[in-house]
Amino acid sequence: MSRAVCEKCQFSATTCLCDDLVKVENSLSIIILQHPSELKVTKNTAKLLPLCTEHCTLVQGQSSSDFTILNTLPQATTALLYPDPDAILIDKVSEQSQIFSQQLTHLIVIDGTWKKAFKILQLTPLLTTFKKISFATIPPNRYRIRKAPRPDSLSTLEAVAHSLMLIEQLDPTPLYQVLDALNDKQTQFMPEHVKTRYLK
Ligand SMILES: [Zn+2]
Repeated sequence: MSRAVCEKCQFSATTCLCDDLVKVENSLSIIILQHPSELKVTKNTAKLLPLCTEHCTLVQGQSSSDFTILNTLPQATTALLYPDPDAILIDKVSEQSQIFSQQLTHLIVIDGTWKKAFKILQLTPLLTTFKKISFATIPPNRYRIRKAPRPDSLSTLEAVAHSLMLIEQLDPTPLYQVLDALNDKQTQFMPEHVKTRYLK
């Protein structure tokens, strides 16, 4: 059974976020590689990104043949956001991270659980040729509805917002406000005792 969804934001009529959407003016191009299993996740936040950021492309798939877009990205100035031991920590003030951040033109983000993201990486060899970036410190998780696969992991929207702040010194507030609006709308019909458990 399918519920009616808003054509623009893809959320249901009761959680439609169109009135809350504000576009941030990022210059970095964002490429989201979305695992198909995320399509079924009603609380997925990645689908909001093309609506509230500039130059954002969302591609669904699982392997190289789906992600041919990667062939078009400039090697030297594209980064993959992925927590890897050899990732450049963009929130750590060092000459290496600063110079690299300033030159970035494209950011690739994988949308899926860590397990699915790892699988996409295995099946897409070209992905491993890009420099990886990550955070030394992860900001507090604002999106509480979707149980995160790891306590310190962020929703895709939060990860992009935090990256844009660190790379472009962009104010991520509008993106966090969209997330708060989503939080409010998805908890509006919850009984009080369930809601307090979520909003703790
Ligand atoms: Zn809508």
